[in-house]
Amino acid sequence: MSERIGVAILGSTGSIGASTLDVLQRHPDRFRVAALTAHRDVEALFRQCLTYEPDVAVLADADAAERLRERLRASGRSVEVLAGVAGLEHAATLPEAAYVMAAIVGAAGLLPTLAAARAGKRVLLANKEALVMAGPLFMAAIRQHGAELLPIDSEHNAVFQCLPPDFAHAGLAAVGVRRILLTGSGGPFRTAPLAQLAEVAPEQACAHPNWSMGRKISVDSATMMNKGLEVIEAHWLFEAPTAAIEVVVHPQSVIHSMVEYQDGSVLAQLGNPDMRTPIAHALAWPRRLASGVAFLDFARLGTLEFQAPDLARFPCLRLAFAALEVGGAAPAVLNAANEMAVQAFLDRRIRFTDIAAVVEHVLEQVSVSAAGDLAAILEGDLEARAVAGRWIAAWALEV
Ligand code: NAD
Ligand code: MG
Repeated sequence: MSERIGVAILGSTGSIGASTLDVLQRHPDRFRVAALTAHRDVEALFRQCLTYEPDVAVLADADAAERLRERLRASGRSVEVLAGVAGLEHAATLPEAAYVMAAIVGAAGLLPTLAAARAGKRVLLANKEALVMAGPLFMAAIRQHGAELLPIDSEHNAVFQCLPPDFAHAGLAAVGVRRILLTGSGGPFRTAPLAQLAEVAPEQACAHPNWSMGRKISVDSATMMNKGLEVIEAHWLFEAPTAAIEVVVHPQSVIHSMVEYQDGSVLAQLGNPDMRTPIAHALAWPRRLASGVAFLDFARLGTLEFQAPDLARFPCLRLAFAALEVGGAAPAVLNAANEMAVQAFLDRRIRFTDIAAVVEHVLEQVSVSAAGDLAAILEGDLEARAVAGRWIAAWALEV
């Protein structure tokens, strides 16, 4: 039997983490779990350790890591337990893991994901915020260290599948690409009366019509900030000029994205909205692997619809394009402000419509560095969080 490929899963207790483990356990002859990491959910990571027997388990929270260590010791398991960012970076660079699933949510994923790139891993990138914050730096690390970058975000995975294998070397123009068409469902409020948006509750924002996801990305989908982050992600991932990236609203989430070529051809990738398809694709690339996803039934599908995005309804999409235009640390500032605002909305401290307002104020107030080095990015992130925190406190609703 050939050697099994070790996989480290950063963010294993989340939605992408669970889908990744689901695909891996279908192929025990090909893969083994080398590392599992999470924020502070001791119980969830403990159960995963019993099932998957990784070499290393990491909790970002040090107290939680200590509790996990004790539980594993008591159960007689020999799993090395580490804590903090250093622990996450250790998991991301483990010699036993050739593949790293980067599925931490938000800016917290940046350093470990970057560490995986620098260690020359096959990086399965779900953590789009890392690329939004540090696109040029991250892409340079991938190239310099001979790492492989496979997009997990369904749109980018679809685009990747619709591009020829040499696109990264040749460039999009040379391979005849005219536009990248990123599809997005428009989320749960695509047709809701605009006047109601100020009153929507977190549960409504998290109830996505087609996808089941973590809470942060669910809210991002409802504001369409998710699509804005994905435009920035596509810009770096495919070296695509901003003018060559277009967002198309497609409520059924069956076409996951498209690439238009100079000759008028449009290639699309279709499938049921289930993240196990892009995960299996990235694990098996350039081959294919059974994922457990139900196959499409076109007769049942019936109709596929398309619309232009409504920027008045979704101001976050406009703000993301604006941040990309400014460049430097501006996308990191946008991302940090959005993370703060989404958390405040989930905590019922601000209204849904305040999310875009917070992001817009922060983008206006924080003077962004044109430099794109890690120090400038982390500084932009911190300052944006401080400014956002002040606005949120000033606007906080009575609870
Ligand atoms: P989730 O909230 O379900 O899971 C997040 C994971 O990250 C958990 O394991 C959590 O413990 C861990 N985590 C959170 N904060 C952390 C911290 N400070 N330090 C260390 N670990 C931390 O999120 P998700 O929906 O699985 O999304 C993960 C990433 O994948 C996000 O960047 C999201 O945008 C992206 N993504 C998700 C989907 C989806 O369908 N869920 C689709 C495309 C892209
Ligand atoms: Mg996506």
